Amino acid sequence: MPNRTTAGAGRRYIVGAHASDAGGIHTAVLRAAAGGMDALQLFTAIPTYYGDKSSIRGERVERFRTALASTRIDPANIVVHAAYVLNTATADEQKWGRSAAGLAKELERSSALGVGAVCFHPGAALGGDPEAATARVARAMSQALEKVSGSTRLLVENTAGAGLTVGRTAHEVGSILADIPATLRERAGYGLDTCHLFAAGHDIVSSADALRAALDAFEDACGEPPSFFHLNDSEGAQGSNRDRHALLGQGKIGIEPFRWLLADRRARGVPLILETPHREGSDAEDNLAPDPNDVEMLQLLRGMMLSNA
Ligand SMILES: [Zn+2]
Ligand SMILES: [Zn+2]
Repeated sequence: MPNRTTAGAGRRYIVGAHASDAGGIHTAVLRAAAGGMDALQLFTAIPTYYGDKSSIRGERVERFRTALASTRIDPANIVVHAAYVLNTATADEQKWGRSAAGLAKELERSSALGVGAVCFHPGAALGGDPEAATARVARAMSQALEKVSGSTRLLVENTAGAGLTVGRTAHEVGSILADIPATLRERAGYGLDTCHLFAAGHDIVSSADALRAALDAFEDACGEPPSFFHLNDSEGAQGSNRDRHALLGQGKIGIEPFRWLLADRRARGVPLILETPHREGSDAEDNLAPDPNDVEMLQLLRGMMLSNA
C-alpha cells in the first residue's frame, strides 16, 4: 500500500479542457495548444450517436497526428470522451449490443489516434439486479479491450446518478473493474468528475478531510487511484443527481474544494480536464483560439497550483 500522504507528490500537474472539434478533430488539439494546455479531451464522433459503424479515415488520423506533433502535448494526456448514448449497463440485449459495439468502435478510433484513454459513462440499468448491471458494463469493456489491441486505456467515469445510472458509488465502479479479466485489467481504470461526485451525493465540500475520504473510498474500492479528473462545479445541489456543469466557483461546490483537490497527491500526474461552459460563439469553425472561459479557468487553477508548489 503506497503511503497516502506522500505518494504522487512531486509529480507535475497536467491540465486542460474539453476542446471544440469544430473544423475537424485536429482543431481540438490546436485550440488546446493555443490555450497552453498540456492535456485535452475531445469527441471523435457525434456524442449523441452510437457511432458503432463509424471507422476513422486515414486522412483524419494523419491530420490529427500532424497537428499533435506541432504541439508539446503528450498523446498520453489526451482523453477521448465516448458517446453519451452508449448504455452498456442495460438489460435490453439489442441496446447492449449496439452500445458494446459503439464502445469497441470508439476504442478503435481512439487507438488509431494514439491517445492515452477513452472515458465513458456506464449507462443505466432500468430495474433488476445491480450486480448484473455492473457485470454487463465489465463485459462490454472486456469485449472492446479484447477486440482492439494497443495501449489506449478504457476508463469508467463516475456518474451523477440520475435515472438509475450505474457508477455513482465507489462500490459500483469497483465492481465493474473487479469483473475485468486480469489479462485486460491494466488497460482498464476509472476517472472522477467533481460535479458528478457532488450531484451523486458524495460530500466533497464540507472539509478537505471529507473530500479526501470520498477519494479514498474510490481508491479502496477500485484498488487504484483515478486516471483522470473532470473539474466541474455543479449547478445542482449535493445529491440532486443533476448533471449540469458550472464554472469553477460559480456553482454549488464553490472554489475551496478545488483547492483541496489540487493539494491531494491524486491530482498530480493524471489529466485534469475542465468541462465547464464555453463562452457563446467561441467554438466556431473558423476560430482556433481557445475558449475564453477555459483560459480564465486555467488561470484560476494555475494560481491554486502555484500555492501548492
Ligand atoms: Zn463524462
Ligand atoms: Zn457531466
